[in-house]
Amino acid sequence: MADSGELHVTVCLEGDPPGPFCIGPDKYQCQFCSKVGEYPALVAHKQTHEKSAVKHEGGCKWIRTPAIMYSTHVATTLVPILAHILFYQFPMKPHRGPQTLQERWLLVFIYAPYLLVPVLLLLTMLLSSTYSSTSKSGHTSVKTKKTN
Ligand SMILES: [Zn+2]
Repeated sequence: MADSGELHVTVCLEGDPPGPFCIGPDKYQCQFCSKVGEYPALVAHKQTHEKSAVKHEGGCKWIRTPAIMYSTHVATTLVPILAHILFYQFPMKPHRGPQTLQERWLLVFIYAPYLLVPVLLLLTMLLSSTYSSTSKSGHTSVKTKKTN
């Protein structure tokens, strides 16, 4: 899980595209790839990257509550499903269910991503400072700018 606040190099904030890095006297490097050259050439080169770069306005804190509801629902749904797989005496007919402990654990491992991914989503929403209500991010400052 990546720490919040720092965007991937291919993601830039809407209206705030980063420029080429200065790596020496009259020598710049593209922020998206390893191309090196003079500033004017790299600005034109950068524009080709910007067409495919992901732009977002930052924050998206509104997703926190729906994501917590969704992940909690899916994760708690998996508890009785996994208990059923582990402890239910499956019939042999008409379709044979898992009978041995090895077959039951194989089925549990097949279902495990449906538990693990929502738990990771829930932990991200609860612990990440990007989505916590107390942190100050770009989204909050954008709202502040609109009201002023
Ligand atoms: Zn490039």
